[in-house]
Amino acid sequence: MCEEKGLHYKGVLEVVMPENYIAMFNAPGEEESRAIVTKAKPVLEQAGELIRKGKDLPASKVGLLDKLKSGPINEGFYKFYVKADAFFATDACTGCGFCVEACPLNNIRLNDGKPVWGKDCTHCMACICGCPTEAIEYGKRSKGKPRYQCPKDETL
Ligand code: SF4
Ligand code: SF4
Repeated sequence: MCEEKGLHYKGVLEVVMPENYIAMFNAPGEEESRAIVTKAKPVLEQAGELIRKGKDLPASKVGLLDKLKSGPINEGFYKFYVKADAFFATDACTGCGFCVEACPLNNIRLNDGKPVWGKDCTHCMACICGCPTEAIEYGKRSKGKPRYQCPKDETL
């Protein structure tokens, strides 16, 4: 695609970060999250260094399974599973509006002080994992699971 558009492909880099996709999986607790982020730091620093020097990222092998995952599997998954229908706010909601601000697709609005989700969702989990009172659930799938958001502090 880059070649077609006359761009130079710089590559991709795999950085393992804590799971936040609680619509399907479990997020790690605070201690485990910190350990994962700490382990990811050198990879990020290496990437930053390469980018600063204008170099390409190291080439990575792309196997058939990767192609399937990024191709037909992803298409089907996105079409049938990635929807906001299952989100709801519990009585713990204070109407703070953080979820409205956090959504990258402007898919949430407040109605009488409670969030309402639209149809334009990419399952980034910013709303459910960022809610300060953990008032958002995704059907029954998120019940009792820890929420994870990358900390904004520099101490990690
Ligand atoms: S972030 Fe949480 S508490 Fe704030 S409006 Fe959204 S659901 Fe309610
Ligand atoms: S999961 Fe992400 S895209 Fe979907 S409604 Fe929440 S913040 Fe918006």
